[in-house]
Amino acid sequence: MTQAALHSPARDRVEAIGRAAGQSAGVGCGLALVLIDLPGLLDWRVGYGVLRVEHALDTLERQLAGLLREGDQLLRAGDGEFLVLLPALRHPAESQLAVRRLQRCLRDHAFPGLERGALEHRLAVIHCSAAELAGAQPDWLLQRAYDALAAAALPQAPEGASAARPAVTAALAESLRVSRELPGALDRGEFELWYQPKFALLDGACVGAEGLLRWLHPRGLRAPGSFIAAAERSGSIVALTRAALHMGLQQLAGWPGAPNTHLSLNFSAVCLQEPTFVPDVLDALAIWAVPPARLTIEITESLAMRDVDAGGRLLGALRDAGARVSLDDFGTGYCSLGYLRRLTADELKIDRSFVTGLTREQGDQRLVAGIIDLAHHFGMDVVAEGVEDDATLECLVALGCDIVQGYFTGRPMPPADFQAALAVQANRENVS
Ligand code: C2E
Ligand code: CA
Ligand code: CA
Repeated sequence: MTQAALHSPARDRVEAIGRAAGQSAGVGCGLALVLIDLPGLLDWRVGYGVLRVEHALDTLERQLAGLLREGDQLLRAGDGEFLVLLPALRHPAESQLAVRRLQRCLRDHAFPGLERGALEHRLAVIHCSAAELAGAQPDWLLQRAYDALAAAALPQAPEGASAARPAVTAALAESLRVSRELPGALDRGEFELWYQPKFALLDGACVGAEGLLRWLHPRGLRAPGSFIAAAERSGSIVALTRAALHMGLQQLAGWPGAPNTHLSLNFSAVCLQEPTFVPDVLDALAIWAVPPARLTIEITESLAMRDVDAGGRLLGALRDAGARVSLDDFGTGYCSLGYLRRLTADELKIDRSFVTGLTREQGDQRLVAGIIDLAHHFGMDVVAEGVEDDATLECLVALGCDIVQGYFTGRPMPPADFQAALAVQANRENVS
């Protein structure tokens, strides 16, 4: 038999309980055992990687140990299990307070890259009075703690047992995996900005493009739907947006024959909360010598509504510098007339969901007509996104929409393709 096989963590725990029981026999209120289990570890390991989880567990162990009295003991039990021994209690409140401190620490503990409070845990406490300790076997006490922990998993957990169990779903595990991959992918330059052209309905000219991120992942091209939410959750969106901003402005400077073509870029809420948001955008414009009027900042309507005053100030600062602001996905949030007045954007993008049913649904037609009217009333240009056929395009012309964007007039395309399309347009203009 090897040394490792001889060493049994369960035996260590039983021995430690035996010693604690010895200290507690005949003393006040006896001994309390707290057993803590972190059942979500497999998902964390998949999502964050083994070493980061190990590091997080070590940090958690130190924090938990820091909450204990002298003489208390914290033992790493099984994988993701902690056993806390609270011997020689003088008053029942002593163990209750200790448990509350441990629970608060578990609740507030921040796993790296994870929101506070997302750590799934179960906790069970058993008490053994000084009188009971006299006849109790240490392994029986440990068994009782495990029984209580198992009961904590039940919907009606008994007193002294609690479970905090935010669902760790396969989708979250996937999102964690993506979060972990993002910084490296950014360093390796795996992101590209693709461009979807926008056309003026007045004369059919391409007035610019919306830049949309694409991840050139070694296992295939990935659309933003598979990584933006994870990037927002982990904070990588700030670096990702900065990369998109610089890529877009650098490429825009080289677009042929079209000094007035615009670039629209998407900004998430997280980016707007960055204290350096406005100077970062202005610096990027200066670095690539792009006049601010050629950049449109797209923010979703619901994001703009979240904090109208703060958002309005930031966007106002960019508008003062000459950049344009667009309210994206309009109609899906809860914008009202009054808010529109305070938000003062330059452009409003009607969400695809209203554009899709335009030729079939009378209601959608009336709604889109109303939105166009409203936007024009506030001096905004109107962009319809998600135009997929000729009939919808004609309908938008009839309703007085200004600009269209959609698969019918052009899908998002790699930078070189968009540049080539602009060159064709510039040549046509030179000939006519
Ligand atoms: P969005 O800003 O609403 O962008 C328009 C999305 O609709 C794009 O999807 C585009 O490919 C798609 N689309 C355009 N025309 C049509 C059409 O005619 N039919 C259909 N079915 N779809 C159409 P994509 O590129 O997958 O981007 C999805 C979302 O990801 C964007 O929605 C935007 O919210 C986000 N996103 C993309 N790039 C960035 C970025 O650089 N930063 C941030 N924060 N978000 C981004
Ligand atoms: Ca957009
Ligand atoms: Ca949109």
